[in-house]
Amino acid sequence: MSISQAIEKLEAHYSHQYEFIQAVKEVALTIQPLYDAHPEYEEFKVFERLVEPDRIFNFRINWENDKGEVQVNRGWRVQFCNALGPYKGGLRFHPTVNQSVLKFLGFEQIFKNALTGLPIGGGKGGSDFDPKGKSDSEVRRFCYAFMRELYHYINKDMDVPAGDIGVGGREVSYMFAMYKNLTRESTGVITGKGVGFGGSLMRTEATGYGAVYFLENMLKAQDEAIEGKTVLVSGAGNVSLHAAEKCIALGAKVITVSDSQGTLHDKNGFDKPKLDWLKTQKAANKPLADYVTKFGSGKWLAGQKPWQFKADIAIPSATQNEVNEEEAKQLVDNGVKYIVEGANMPLTADAVDYVRDYRVHYAPGKAANAGGVAVSALEMSQNSVRQYKTFEQVDERLKVIMKDIHDSAAGASEQYGQTDNGYIDYMAGANMVGFKRVADALVAFGILN
Ligand code: GLU
Repeated sequence: MSISQAIEKLEAHYSHQYEFIQAVKEVALTIQPLYDAHPEYEEFKVFERLVEPDRIFNFRINWENDKGEVQVNRGWRVQFCNALGPYKGGLRFHPTVNQSVLKFLGFEQIFKNALTGLPIGGGKGGSDFDPKGKSDSEVRRFCYAFMRELYHYINKDMDVPAGDIGVGGREVSYMFAMYKNLTRESTGVITGKGVGFGGSLMRTEATGYGAVYFLENMLKAQDEAIEGKTVLVSGAGNVSLHAAEKCIALGAKVITVSDSQGTLHDKNGFDKPKLDWLKTQKAANKPLADYVTKFGSGKWLAGQKPWQFKADIAIPSATQNEVNEEEAKQLVDNGVKYIVEGANMPLTADAVDYVRDYRVHYAPGKAANAGGVAVSALEMSQNSVRQYKTFEQVDERLKVIMKDIHDSAAGASEQYGQTDNGYIDYMAGANMVGFKRVADALVAFGILN
């Protein structure tokens, strides 16, 4: 069965899983040259196997809110593929979470994790629980209840969750506590733990910093540097604020951040103290808009996105499909030459086509935001040997990993004839490198897995 036949079959089965089909097609459209060079992939039906998760667990979570009312939510864990190591991937708590979203994220995670070069498979999970407006006690009760179900399906050597949207250090701590309570084991079953009880230094910064390290490599490939460049960042979560922080530290000017309510624009750029204030403000769930009165600078644009400003670089780091074709056009018109995906699949398929047509250097999330999961894998290995690395050691390792991802994607783009006159096809390159590592393992295993 060819890739296109496998896609047809998949669409017939899962036409309602829009995000999942989008993610699969993106990979499918770019790996044909690799597939043609490896007839064994067709023989072993590698693509057809990889688009169906190993298994999905679906469960109900009952918990009690502060008024003593019973609340019911849905939870999932998608164990997508463990060819390269234990299932690995975050947990997302957001009202938009459903099977399609988790399957798209889990599918992406297989190749992202393969790209890190570390021994981790792909998985994802989460719940339609909405953390917004919930008290700390409510979040705690929900996390306990969620882990009471999830713990049946995970284990440090089999499936290792982490955070994602709506799941940060606080939630990871609550879930880890319940896992320890139920199993009486203290193992690295979840990553993103607090430093001091099994967490790795730099895990919090890793996704955002890693994306900027990837960007530095892209710029270098075009004989450019980050210093003096103007950057648009979307989102105001962990990835966004750490990407902004690293850009600023390297001498770039970051002029936007955003959230679901709107965009904060400061034409002079945020400096480190202002960024630190934004971090505290967000951590306390307070409005970004307060920045304007606090510092007497910048503008709050209610209900707007950050793509309307002139810039050199965009780092969309909020959520999937946040940039549509119209907004991609805005970016191109505003002079943006580099797009680095801090979030998972923040550009719609049409937006990706558009920016690539205009030769914007484009780094897909599975390559650019792999730094987070890479440091999670380093956390796993530190947990296993029960010895911990310094911030500088992890940072150095992260830089090397991001450079390797960049170079291997660029190398595959060149090798399979996708590089055009200096324009590197990072999307094709990353998909081919990630796919090849997983596919070779599947072929070696025969028809198991
Ligand atoms: N949720 C993050 C991602 O999308 C991190 C996953 C992890 O650390 O396991 O890659």
